[in-house]
Amino acid sequence: MQNLLIALGSAFMTVFNTFSWRDGLDILIVAYLIYTVINLLIHTRTGLLIKGAVVLLAAYFLSTALQLRTIKFLIDYLFRYGLVVLVVIFQPELRTVLERIGRTELGRSLFISRLGNTEQDAQRKAIDIITSAAVSLSNTYTGALIVFEKETPLADIIATGTTIDAEVSEELIGNIFYKGAPLHDGAVIVRKDRIVAAACLLPVSHNLEISREMGTRHRAALGISENTDALVLVVSEENGYISVAQNGIIVRQLDKNRAFQMLTDELCPKKDEDEENQIWYKRILKNAQGSKQ
Ligand code: ATP
Ligand code: MG
Repeated sequence: MQNLLIALGSAFMTVFNTFSWRDGLDILIVAYLIYTVINLLIHTRTGLLIKGAVVLLAAYFLSTALQLRTIKFLIDYLFRYGLVVLVVIFQPELRTVLERIGRTELGRSLFISRLGNTEQDAQRKAIDIITSAAVSLSNTYTGALIVFEKETPLADIIATGTTIDAEVSEELIGNIFYKGAPLHDGAVIVRKDRIVAAACLLPVSHNLEISREMGTRHRAALGISENTDALVLVVSEENGYISVAQNGIIVRQLDKNRAFQMLTDELCPKKDEDEENQIWYKRILKNAQGSKQ
């Protein structure tokens, strides 16, 4: 025991003598990083998982040390099949991460075929028709909410509404959003040049910084644009304004040309198009992003 104390004492002295300010800084930074990570994890579902794993590991070591065979046997099994259980429990998180990866340039070029030229032209035509319809709706103060699916599949949203699957036309859009028509409440989902569903329920944005004058229709447009890469066209019933939401930012009071530009630039960009033409709203989006941070 005495020897152990002497050895410990001399080890302590060696460390103390060679300790420099760099080591202090090193320890401080590592401690801060560990603190931040633990803090982050504690407040998430992942934190719960880590707490569970720590308890299980402790139980495993205890059961090994005390030779509690049944507990050890059970934990052995849990570890073996745990991965499958984790994938099931964390499916929403995994999905979000995979979707994010898929949306990066690398993901796109690896997994997603870009729209062919004919498809692009068809979508462009559909956007032209929809933006014209938006102007008519705006003139009559008819509210509308139209979501353009991009690469994030909107199957969950479509399931909340009524399936349509019809070619885009001005008459059909006018009919759907006509006040009092059975499907006028909720959102229309457009995939390429087809209306796939109407009366769909969108997730509402919980961003507290959204201007108070925007009601649930505009918040729903913002909500879906925060959660997915979809673009959303809104026509206000109150003031007839046409707006487009993208990535959690809404650009309001657009005319037909500007709405058309914003939508086509994101959904079916033409390489040879005059870039200058499209700079105006990129500046708006950039400023809005800057002020958000
Ligand atoms: P407006 O300027 O047209 O009045 P607003 O932003 O003020 O729009 P509200 O007046 O609350 O919003 O609009 C209500 C309509 O918005 C509903 O009748 C419905 O059609 C649509 N809406 C509201 N919430 C959702 C949602 N979560 N998903 C889809 N549509 C929604
Ligand atoms: Mg309103």
